[in-house]
Amino acid sequence: MFVDHISIYVKAGNGGSGAVSFRREKYVAAGGPDGGDGGRGGNIVLRIDEGSNTLLAFRYKRKFIAEAGGDGKGGKMHGKNGKDLEIPVPPGTIVRDAESGRIIKDMSNCEPFVLCKGGRGGFGNRHFATPTRQIPRFAKSGTKGEEREVVLELKMLADVGLIGFPSVGKSSILAKISAARPKIAEYHFTTLSPNLGVVSVDGGRGFVAADIPGLIEGAADGLGLGHEFLRHVDRCRLLLHVVDIAGTEGRDPIDDIEKINIELARYSENLASRPQIIVANKKDMLEGSATDVSAFEDYVRAHGWDLLYISALTGENLDRLVHLTADKLALLPPLTVYEPEIDDAEAAIPKGERTTTVRRENDTYYVEGEWLYNLMGQVNPEDYESLSFFSRVLQKAGVIQMLEDKGCKDGDTVNIYDFEFDFVK
Ligand code: GDP
Ligand code: MG
Repeated sequence: MFVDHISIYVKAGNGGSGAVSFRREKYVAAGGPDGGDGGRGGNIVLRIDEGSNTLLAFRYKRKFIAEAGGDGKGGKMHGKNGKDLEIPVPPGTIVRDAESGRIIKDMSNCEPFVLCKGGRGGFGNRHFATPTRQIPRFAKSGTKGEEREVVLELKMLADVGLIGFPSVGKSSILAKISAARPKIAEYHFTTLSPNLGVVSVDGGRGFVAADIPGLIEGAADGLGLGHEFLRHVDRCRLLLHVVDIAGTEGRDPIDDIEKINIELARYSENLASRPQIIVANKKDMLEGSATDVSAFEDYVRAHGWDLLYISALTGENLDRLVHLTADKLALLPPLTVYEPEIDDAEAAIPKGERTTTVRRENDTYYVEGEWLYNLMGQVNPEDYESLSFFSRVLQKAGVIQMLEDKGCKDGDTVNIYDFEFDFVK
């Protein structure tokens, strides 16, 4: 079973609660408050695992919850911070918001990525002592860790994709030009997961090639035309379109090329317009046979494609294939890395319950709501970036509008869980 598209649920750890505690010492009558703060909840962090090229592991585990922060204790003891939960993903994994389908992150050649931030620990009661309130009998609970439903989609990082009908020799070619050892056989379903191989070329012009399974493979058996496999060639800069020039199994190379190209175009016009080199394989079987290739050559020439006769079996012309490929690649733009399509502020607004209340007391507008309390855990009022993020969230979540509706004007004071600022529209 090949898995390259899967939805998972991730949740960062909640922050621990602050403690309510008072110092008790032998000769001190009424000790002050000494309740420690809760620990931070662990983050959900995605990390590239260079050694993997499938999302198979997620078939058996789809729920990831990072450790919560420990509760604070007496004696100013801070709760333990929750451990981050690292989730390894294959290179080229695209993370999308499950609901909107928009890209959150393309895990390609990047540092570990924090997908969900852990909640902040709540303050212990020692923070709440004031000259008029010397015995604070309360502490704050921690904020919730972020949670979300995301779709992981694997689009491998290959410069070159080998496409073509089953048994034309794609896997054999990859095996010969790289160190990859794909399965090779005479029957059609050998390659149901893509194989990646690194091809070295002199002068540091090496490239990564992928043997793409599935296209049309199994179509007759109701497995579909294999469009789902095409996401793996999405990033390829160049396609090696392999045909069986000897026409074994009664194949007609022109017919095959057309069929494959129709499927490419059905999947995406963009992919269909990617440059191709026609690789006429099994040249060894052509020798001594009466096959007439002139119509085929006319056809290829009419489309302006490069054409190379090779034999994966004898190795003939494989060297030329590798060099031609490297030459072409040198002229093509680099591999696509997808930009995030989702705004961080938008992503921070919870999808479900989001009750928000605004009440006015004297000249201050108090805004409350559990989701806001949780959000405050992510905001650092001392940091400009963080504040601008926060104001974008308020804007997008409709809080600014609510304030206005309640009569809040420029310069009025707004208080959100003890964080105060002047209202600016
Ligand atoms: P794929 O389905 O396109 O990956 O094809 P494979 O690489 O698995 O090859 C299918 C069959 O064709 C295998 O039996 C190979 O040994 C054979 N084959 C591949 N390349 C050549 C070649 O250049 N000449 C000959 N005679 N047979 C080949
Ligand atoms: Mg194969």
